[in-house]
Amino acid sequence: MKCRVCKAKANVYLRYANMAFCKEHFIEFFERRVRRAIERFKMIEKGDKVVVAVSGGKDSLALLYVLNELSKTMDFEILAVTIDLGMGEYSKLSVEIAEKNYKRLGVDYRIVELEDYGFTIDDVAKYRISGRICGICGTAKRYILNKVAKEEGASKLATGHNLDDFLQVVLQGYLYGNLEDLARYYPITPSLSGLVARIKPLVTTPEKDSLIYTIAKGIEYVVMECPYSLRASSRDLKNAIFYLEERRPGTRFSMFNTYVKMIYPLIREAYFKGGVLKKCKECGEPTNADVCLFCRVKSSVSAKRSA
Ligand code: SF4
Ligand code: ZN
Ligand code: ZN
Repeated sequence: MKCRVCKAKANVYLRYANMAFCKEHFIEFFERRVRRAIERFKMIEKGDKVVVAVSGGKDSLALLYVLNELSKTMDFEILAVTIDLGMGEYSKLSVEIAEKNYKRLGVDYRIVELEDYGFTIDDVAKYRISGRICGICGTAKRYILNKVAKEEGASKLATGHNLDDFLQVVLQGYLYGNLEDLARYYPITPSLSGLVARIKPLVTTPEKDSLIYTIAKGIEYVVMECPYSLRASSRDLKNAIFYLEERRPGTRFSMFNTYVKMIYPLIREAYFKGGVLKKCKECGEPTNADVCLFCRVKSSVSAKRSA
């Protein structure tokens, strides 16, 4: 098979598009598609300061490399942020690999420790604060990234959610009827009382393509799985989507376009509950309860620690 651009021997074949590329032209294609998604959903404007959330996994690092490339021509700046979540060896390795990549690219970065904000994810598990560790971990990440983005005067917060992640959340929303959540689920979530605008530049990038990109660019990423990963149900949904994709290549893109063009506007109109959030009585961060979940977890951990 030959590269569709230069006709040299192809290294990558994308079944969903029936296109083959050599390494160099795959990289070009990948970066151009991210750029198009950014433009289509107006994710980044001239002069933006974008915090890039980097976990050390393949998607977040692919995102960092692409945004670093695009920042050179699209006139915005980036700041990479990694949170040490306090999960033993896994966190140590994740931070180490993220930092290696920051140095390789020469980008500005910050590494923050969840421990400095009052607890670690290991504490959540050790003191049995919740059976849903991933839920607490997600809350902690969102809380800290938003806080750091505000401290740094960033106008956007970018995460590495890819096409498969996006569709999995949409399908989950359909299955469990979380329509209020879906009313806020879109490639860009505008800034709202105390919340920095969040963007998903890889939203049109299939998961496997991120992996190919990291390999093609020689990016070192964390392969080790998180010790608390219990992704059974989200994996099932992704496998279901992938089954449809295998039978009809391109299904994921049509699911995506149907959602953003036809379904999301209807759900938004019917279920969006305005954008007003309260301020947490303890930390002042935006929340819809009196005390935010982050502060509640923090108090539970400190009560158990001193018991
Ligand atoms: Fe956090 Fe769960 Fe992801 Fe581990 S798998 S990093 S606990 S969200
Ligand atoms: Zn080529
Ligand atoms: Zn709070």
